[in-house]
Amino acid sequence: MPALSADQHRTVRELCADYLIVKGYSREYAELLRRGDGQTTKLRWTGYAHNAALLTTGSVFLISLGWVPAVVHQRTRRGRLGAGLCPRCRYQLAGLPSGICPECGELLRA
Ligand SMILES: [Zn+2]
Repeated sequence: MPALSADQHRTVRELCADYLIVKGYSREYAELLRRGDGQTTKLRWTGYAHNAALLTTGSVFLISLGWVPAVVHQRTRRGRLGAGLCPRCRYQLAGLPSGICPECGELLRA
């Protein structure tokens, strides 16, 4: 596909700008397109700082949740022991003399 000349580029920009106006889009964008020299990007350093702060905060928050599995495991273990079951395999422990599960060998203490 051959490259467009500067005049052809200008014509295409003007046609596209007219199309945007006819279709009801913003006249500001249409005029920006018509001029063809609009600054469309701007580097925002505060955006980098914001993203870095957000990623740091999110990472610290996720790391701080490391205690949750241990607490859930401990509660599950206590609940099963309280119900008279082995905390690992849920084997019925009623009447067992030893402190070790005969099914899985788990040491039975709270
Ligand atoms: Zn067991």
